[in-house]
Amino acid sequence: MSVNQQTHTGPPYGQPQPGYQGYQQPAYGGQPLPGVPQLQYGAYNGPMPGYQQPVPPQGYFPSLGFPSKGCPVSLNSDNSLAPNFIGSLRTPATSGAPPPPSGPTLPSGHLAYSQLGHGDVQNGIAASAASAQRPPASQPFLPGLAPTPVIQTSAFQQYGPTPASVQQLSNDMTGMTIGRTTASAPPPAGLGYGPPTSGPPVSGSLSATGSGLYTPYTASQGPSPTSVTQSLPLAQPPFPVQTITTQRLPTQVPGFAPPPPSTGIGPSSYPPTTGAPRPPTMSGPPPPPLGQTVAGPPASQPNHISSPPPSAVSGPHPGPPVTGLHGPPPPTHPPQPGYQMQQNGSFGPVRGSQPNYGGAYPGTPNYGSQPGPPPPPKRLDPDSIPSPQLNELPPQQKPRHRIDPDAIPSPIQVIEDDRSNRGSEPFVTGVRGHVPPLVTTNFIVKDEGNASPRYIRCTSYNIPCTSDMAKQSQVPLAAVIKPLATLPPEETLPYLVDHGESGPVRCNRCKAYMCPFMQFIEGGRRFQCCFCSCVTEVPPHYFQHLDHTGKRVDFYDRPELSLGSYEFLATVDYCKNNKFPSPPAFIFMIDVSYNAVKSGLVRLICEELKSLLDYLPREGNMEESAIRVGFVTYNKVLHFYNVKSSLAQPQMMVVSDVADMFVPLLDGLLVNVNDSRTVIASLLDQIPEMFADTRETETVFAPVIQAGLEALKAAECAGKLFIFHTSLPIAEAPGKLKNRDDKKLVNTDKEKTLFQPQTSFYNNLAKDCVAHGCCVDLFLFPNQYLDVATLGVVTYQTGGSIYKYAYFQPETDQDRFLNDLRRDVQKEVGFDAVMRVRTSTGIRATDFFGAFYMSNTTDVEMAGLDCDKTITVEFKHDDKLSEDSGALLQCAVLYTSCAGQRRLRIHNLSLNCCTQLADLYRNCETDTLINYLAKYAYRGVLSSPVKTVRDALINQCAQILACYRKNCASPSSAGQLILPECMKLLPVYLNCVLKSDVLQPGPEVTTDDRAYIRQLVTSMDVAETNVFFYPRLLPLTKADVDSDSLPGAIRNSEERLSKGDIYLLENGLNIFVWVGVNVQQGLIQNLFGVSSFSQINKALTMLPVLENPFSKKVRSIINMLQMQRSRYMKLIIVKQEDKLEMLFKHFLVEDKSLSGGASYVDFLCHMHKEIRQLLS
Ligand SMILES: [Zn+2]
Repeated sequence: MSVNQQTHTGPPYGQPQPGYQGYQQPAYGGQPLPGVPQLQYGAYNGPMPGYQQPVPPQGYFPSLGFPSKGCPVSLNSDNSLAPNFIGSLRTPATSGAPPPPSGPTLPSGHLAYSQLGHGDVQNGIAASAASAQRPPASQPFLPGLAPTPVIQTSAFQQYGPTPASVQQLSNDMTGMTIGRTTASAPPPAGLGYGPPTSGPPVSGSLSATGSGLYTPYTASQGPSPTSVTQSLPLAQPPFPVQTITTQRLPTQVPGFAPPPPSTGIGPSSYPPTTGAPRPPTMSGPPPPPLGQTVAGPPASQPNHISSPPPSAVSGPHPGPPVTGLHGPPPPTHPPQPGYQMQQNGSFGPVRGSQPNYGGAYPGTPNYGSQPGPPPPPKRLDPDSIPSPQLNELPPQQKPRHRIDPDAIPSPIQVIEDDRSNRGSEPFVTGVRGHVPPLVTTNFIVKDEGNASPRYIRCTSYNIPCTSDMAKQSQVPLAAVIKPLATLPPEETLPYLVDHGESGPVRCNRCKAYMCPFMQFIEGGRRFQCCFCSCVTEVPPHYFQHLDHTGKRVDFYDRPELSLGSYEFLATVDYCKNNKFPSPPAFIFMIDVSYNAVKSGLVRLICEELKSLLDYLPREGNMEESAIRVGFVTYNKVLHFYNVKSSLAQPQMMVVSDVADMFVPLLDGLLVNVNDSRTVIASLLDQIPEMFADTRETETVFAPVIQAGLEALKAAECAGKLFIFHTSLPIAEAPGKLKNRDDKKLVNTDKEKTLFQPQTSFYNNLAKDCVAHGCCVDLFLFPNQYLDVATLGVVTYQTGGSIYKYAYFQPETDQDRFLNDLRRDVQKEVGFDAVMRVRTSTGIRATDFFGAFYMSNTTDVEMAGLDCDKTITVEFKHDDKLSEDSGALLQCAVLYTSCAGQRRLRIHNLSLNCCTQLADLYRNCETDTLINYLAKYAYRGVLSSPVKTVRDALINQCAQILACYRKNCASPSSAGQLILPECMKLLPVYLNCVLKSDVLQPGPEVTTDDRAYIRQLVTSMDVAETNVFFYPRLLPLTKADVDSDSLPGAIRNSEERLSKGDIYLLENGLNIFVWVGVNVQQGLIQNLFGVSSFSQINKALTMLPVLENPFSKKVRSIINMLQMQRSRYMKLIIVKQEDKLEMLFKHFLVEDKSLSGGASYVDFLCHMHKEIRQLLS
């Protein structure tokens, strides 16, 4: 027996697993989350105390003991430029210049950050984190100031006493104000980018260095200092720059690399960061207090839609759910028989035809494939403006529906019913084939032998025994797997099992891992594999006697025998090159081209990183994260930074030969945050200044990834690149792209090319990245087309995440971006992951959907696998299954933890098998089916016209429903539409997929948006696709301000809206707050702080913080929703009858859409017709 024999593993099974505590704690995991959500982001609205007081310049006193590593130290040259440079910095040269550092807008993230709930159980240095008034990292240099944290002290002491004195400090400040405070508008982009010899820099400050803009950095002994610098010999630290060039650039002057982006300023202009008012360097973790006070467990679950008891909604639906719709074909509509459906006699009267519906389905089989001309608004008559009175009318009195929308299956009703019926008791996984509650139901899972539905959900929990039966039903057999899903705090994390050097016990033949379904025989000496039936000897150390039932007596002591999900500690055999991995690294790669700088993005990122670096993923009770960090900036050249702890100041190295990317430094690029805290802080302070005046507009992209990859390779570790990128990479370099966007291709056979990468270069690069465990997360800030379809290839195939903020403006977008970034950096992630799904005899995994790379047909490879990433796996029969033995899945993911530990996470699931189709239909899960169908369709657009894809989807679903009708439903007239109970929402949800921007874009949807959505959906779990395709619509004015519950959701149709109410709609990416024109003035005052509808500022991106119950309640709801999603949703205020309302209506998915998508009623009629055709 060798369980837990290794000291580095978690404690014995059965006890809390410290090694796993970390998974619970990250802010988005089990970490206590705000139970008072309105506090969560409140800081954004309020003042930013931490940033209102300009902080005296501290921390930029270079050490006299500056260590030279061959990099020239250019104190003088830097100083000579500093004052002037600063002058121009402080006055933005253009309207779009970066905001002043001390402004309240930029650093707002910090305060909010401290409220995110990363309390003292979070990453960071516990002791120093305790103080919000943590001194700047540089303070140790100032005698007599606050004591320095021990960690930093040692670093500073190593470099000798500081030469700075208080007197010098004041001089610094004086010096900082000396510089020019005005600057002319920048020359057109590129003006300053001639060859280095082309002339003096545009800025007067640069003339001091003559034409050799770059020289000061390669030749360290610079020109004579100006008077200012003479008086402040130490004020400005040198920022040694090493230009790395190769022979490949014949045009290049030797030793004279292409100028850095800010010509004439560039690296030479590292401004003294000490002189200007600026936010304090956040070198320590933000204080935890607020995060500790709040706890909202359900909200923390991305896949766990929190639904407090539906107080505002009615109880369980009285009577049986709508499963059958029937009615004789209406005599008045011969071409569309069967359209008038009635629900077992309970339907309302048949309505007159609705003008807009007529002719929508002219009987052609190409339904939905031809958007046609934009239809008129759904209702133009006076009825089109809903009113409370109208909505309160009984359905029969509503105008002009041939089919009563209230009589067709309602998603809201199904969701509410499931909550009522299944939300109160834990879901126990001990029963084979047990269908879990819906993703929209709040429930607790108890693992008794099968994986939690948070990890695996299936389209059906009862699989047809034969392939023929499966084909007949056309129900896809698929599992949606989220291997590292975050669990709510109430649930137990997978235990870590350590079998010592022998490793996990596995089947000799199929290599399946020990699991609850293995059968021990011969007194426990051997076991028979539940997947392949092969008999394997039990290793001596694993032997255990069986009890009278044949069960091992240690059954309940071993997770792998009694639980559905657990982990094994992997041995060295599971490691690359038979070597245990090093801890991973994060490399932040920041676009510093003109757009990035001008928008304030560069400054924002640098400010944020100062604090965010203290929240890197940390394992268990480790005091600090094992993850190392590195920094690179780029435009059309790359700048690497040496931030080694022994340096007093960071060093920059420029690589201008992007054709064959290499990393110019090995030592000092990737560092421990605590060790290099001061140097990193200094770097992050200086980067925005360095490039403040850049005029370089062109960027490279592939070389950036290559550089990150090479850096990880050199460090022999896996890791993640966080790339912040703004534009189409048109600079001359590998992976250079051209603008090939062409919206005229939409709805043509060539439309698929818009989704395909324009070059295979990125596919090859992705392959290389995956092979070396280099995951790429991409944050895009485009002002125009930047070809997401191509830029996203590497992100997609490495298991990374992509984020997009079009027309980024700090004022409106920074909260969303920073929240996304924080979550992305902190979330649980595994590296170098390989997933394999084993199945019992009879079925096998045949197809995979998600963000990954596959080099063979079985192994899903992901350079990074985070807690949000979901892989959808399709299964096909290769033999008969038996009802007795059922079907088994085992998903094994081998990965490297954030501390560098190699592990295997195992999820097992047993399913029933059936010989009756009715059993299949009774045990389906439509939400999961839609997840699969959406991913299948979204992949289809890469190779087929969207019309073909849509038609195929409709056809498949018609077949599914026709098969049910034919084989499972009781005989009835053809005029009836009969839907299986578990699939009664299939038509409405399918219609949402068909109408989505990828498959049927409106004119306002850009090609990049479509590529982006396509990529997002491909990695979504079931809860995310559910709310994405059928958004949640909540009547805020119906909310009970005294309870914690959400108001009951309503159906996504305009006719459900009352113009006297305020509604919230969320789809996982956006939150709309829709305000009716007749909303009471008091409500408007309470929510928006203005006295009338017309005064509501629709540009708000967050609601004002007002001290009244309604405002608190609404903000609390919004915060609760934000916490549930893996991305921070953009808040959009929509006033009824405003232009923006069109955007909002796009998400009222039961209505006809402007892009030609059918209304739910129309689509249901169409499906009925399709089914009838199949049956006739
Ligand atoms: Zn086997």
